[in-house]
Amino acid sequence: MNLTITAYSTALFSTWIFIEELGILLDAGDGVSSGLLQKSRKIKEIFVTHPDRDHLMGLFQLNALNAREGFPKIYYPKDCGSFPAMRDFQTKFDVQNKFVEWNPIQHLSEIPVRKDFFIQAIRNEHINAPEGVFKSLSYKLFETKQKLKLEYLELDKKTLQNLFKEKGKENMLETVKTNILTYSGDTPVDDYEKWNGSKILIHEATFLENSDDSKINKSNKHSKLDEVLKMVSEIEVEQLVLNHFSSRYYKEDIDKNILELCKKYKIQIPIRVIYPGEIHRDLLNQEPVNS
Ligand SMILES: [Zn+2]
Repeated sequence: MNLTITAYSTALFSTWIFIEELGILLDAGDGVSSGLLQKSRKIKEIFVTHPDRDHLMGLFQLNALNAREGFPKIYYPKDCGSFPAMRDFQTKFDVQNKFVEWNPIQHLSEIPVRKDFFIQAIRNEHINAPEGVFKSLSYKLFETKQKLKLEYLELDKKTLQNLFKEKGKENMLETVKTNILTYSGDTPVDDYEKWNGSKILIHEATFLENSDDSKINKSNKHSKLDEVLKMVSEIEVEQLVLNHFSSRYYKEDIDKNILELCKKYKIQIPIRVIYPGEIHRDLLNQEPVNS
């Protein structure tokens, strides 16, 4: 399936990523409704990674415009108090908001989205939290397909037809799941395995160099471009999208750094960027930086 993705992401200000075919919104920063206009009505599920203000402030307007029986369904890390506080305020503020579903989730929660797709939440370490406490999540999108079990693959059509009758087709199939997209949310680079095998990886790269930006919440951990590209060179990913750059970087700086690091780490896969301050429409059809 080709995914049409509309996205905006600038560290500290706002991040949101909309997957049109599936009606999924990943994070809901300020400006998501005005950025998507009528398309925002297609949003069914909203997965918020963590309670930093640049990832959830768009929910006020989005819910006010779109709340209807059973939708939208919002999913958030279960140990963040900001979400129930926001829910209570919004419900008081505008009675229409009573329709919004607020669902606390945690590491390894799986949420079916459309037929044959589900989202799996995985813990990340952006916000310090003890084991078993969940304040920051990444999201993996899986597609499931029913395929013939290995032992039947070599058989000819006629034998198969007979076996279907004899055993029942459903008993000869197995479910195969493919990780078609992964969204890191805000996160430091740590366990490479979390992203391995994802066809499309959307990963944050807040900083181009090794200095820290004091304006961006110091206690919360972020990624540097060099570490992200080093990691990507060592795992299996088919396409990379970088987001959440600090607003102090210009497009040219970002591109130049990516090209240098592609050389350094011998990266061949296409890399696309969600540049600070820009709304990207049909992100995956955008020209890769390293094409
Ligand atoms: Zn952020």
